[in-house]
Amino acid sequence: MEAVVEATDLEKAYGETVALSGASLSVQGGEVFGLIGPNGAGKTTLVRALTGTTDPDSGTARILDDSPTAVDRDRLGVLPQEFSPPGRLSARELLSYYAGLYDDPRDPDAVLADVGLVDAGDTWYEDLSGGQQRRVCVGSALVNDPDLLFLDEPTTGIDPAGRRTVWRLIEDLAAGGTTVVLTTHDMAEAERLADRVGLLADGSLVAQGPPERLVRDHGGSSRLTVETAADPAAFADLEYPVDRPERGRRRSTDGAIVVRDIEPAAIGTVVDYLEARDVEYTQLSWAEPDLEDVYLELADATEQARTDRLESDDGGAGESDLARAGETA
Ligand code: ADP
Repeated sequence: MEAVVEATDLEKAYGETVALSGASLSVQGGEVFGLIGPNGAGKTTLVRALTGTTDPDSGTARILDDSPTAVDRDRLGVLPQEFSPPGRLSARELLSYYAGLYDDPRDPDAVLADVGLVDAGDTWYEDLSGGQQRRVCVGSALVNDPDLLFLDEPTTGIDPAGRRTVWRLIEDLAAGGTTVVLTTHDMAEAERLADRVGLLADGSLVAQGPPERLVRDHGGSSRLTVETAADPAAFADLEYPVDRPERGRRRSTDGAIVVRDIEPAAIGTVVDYLEARDVEYTQLSWAEPDLEDVYLELADATEQARTDRLESDDGGAGESDLARAGETA
């Protein structure tokens, strides 16, 4: 199948800040490609380079067999992360306005139905809820019935029901042959929608593949989380490896211990062990690895490599960037 999006070694810096450091990816026709990665990883810059709204410093990008700046706009749909249409137009008026920019647009009412906003069609944009507004924005990227659709965080700020409407819409578009590239912070969204996921960290794609393969290769093993104030030493005689939960996986404030490589059938052994030793705990939860584990593992590893690199440099440079990464983690 032919590649609809092809990026090779894209680099882009804003002054001292490196946004892309050799990003390469290829998306086939009809595929849904999910781009994930921490804040500041370069996702938006990559989408902008692929849609012709920023020029990379080096590397090549081609979409629909053309350069991103020359591509036929009738074939391309783009939902930027920051998009604020005029507030005093109704949802229907807005979609009609955007439809008017194309030669052969879809019927705005059909698009309203697609994004689940028929009842809100006459409401001013500024009076819609945040989630409804985002759905109008998604609709505005669909009015030209694009062959290739870029969605930068399409469901951020949308409630769970609205999110499902957008998910179904993306699934329908994909089933109809539209190629979709979407960025998201929602691992469930990436796992559900994406045929392949690319993890962007520190400006390049550190892993790409079908979600299930990434989970198999990088997700680690199944685990049992024991919510307990006890010390890991209390688990020392258990025949499984134990440690603390990863950063980002911590739910309780009282502390927790993670028992690794354990199948559900063996949970009873742990319960017996804890009871025999009077170790108090408030909850046990077992989980298979998922895309969030992949994300935590690879994004953490990249961040660590970056910290090591900066420390072995002159020590001072990049400190503000690190502080920023710390804040957003
Ligand atoms: P993401 O979308 O993954 O959060 P971005 O592509 O927005 O990442 O940003 C990557 C890096 O480039 C960040 O450090 C960000 O601050 C910087 N950056 C992005 N756009 C600009 C810009 N227009 N001017 C200066 N720095 C920018």
